[in-house]
Amino acid sequence: MITIALSKGRIFEETLPLLNAAGITALEDPESSRKLILPTNRADVRLIIVRASDVPTYVQYGAADLGVAGKDVLSEHGGIGLYQPLDLNIARCRMMVAVRDDFDYESAVRQGARLRVATKYVQTARDHFAAKGVHVDLIKLYGSMELAPLVGLSDAIVDLVSSGNTLKANHLKAVEHIADISSRLVVNQAALKLKYDLIQPMLDAFSIAIRE
Ligand code: ATP
Ligand code: MG
Repeated sequence: MITIALSKGRIFEETLPLLNAAGITALEDPESSRKLILPTNRADVRLIIVRASDVPTYVQYGAADLGVAGKDVLSEHGGIGLYQPLDLNIARCRMMVAVRDDFDYESAVRQGARLRVATKYVQTARDHFAAKGVHVDLIKLYGSMELAPLVGLSDAIVDLVSSGNTLKANHLKAVEHIADISSRLVVNQAALKLKYDLIQPMLDAFSIAIRE
């Protein structure tokens, strides 16, 4: 049995065509089903639905053999025990630093000000500002980072940006690009060895599908 961990929403939707290319079809839609274990057309393949940030954990411990996770999530997790053979080029966005429209970020940085930064991506933010030599106090949030600078919780946020419309709607501006983000296939290293005959053909099919 091969277990594949996916999160609902964009990762599930954008991974489906790749699964189809490998001959795997989900028999239920996680948006309408309450089931967390979804059967597929193949008796030896099942999908499990987990939080996006939990995908690396399920794969690390071997509760799932494969998974799909954003680089943002993988950077925070650290990637221990995970083989990352393929960038699937899906769920693309950018990790950015953003501040209020009226905040002069450049001069705050130039003056060596200590910045308060609110984010869900504490590890990524810590590494980014340390590399720049900027002192920061990090405030961990679990969502709606855009609110933090508006109500005085922080000077800046580190968040994912795609169109920039959410920033604009909240009178924020992106001031620094940290990384381009897309989702990767992650594989449990022991599972790859033990179930090589089942997993390797899937990896081959995915890699052909993403090149098309
Ligand atoms: P949760 O909704 O459970 O808190 P989440 O917000 O991380 O988790 P999704 O919104 O489904 O879950 O995001 C899953 C992945 O998709 C993220 O880890 C990231 O890599 C990518 N992603 C997030 N926001 C965008 C976006 N606006 N455009 C494209 N890709 C995105
Ligand atoms: Mg989200």
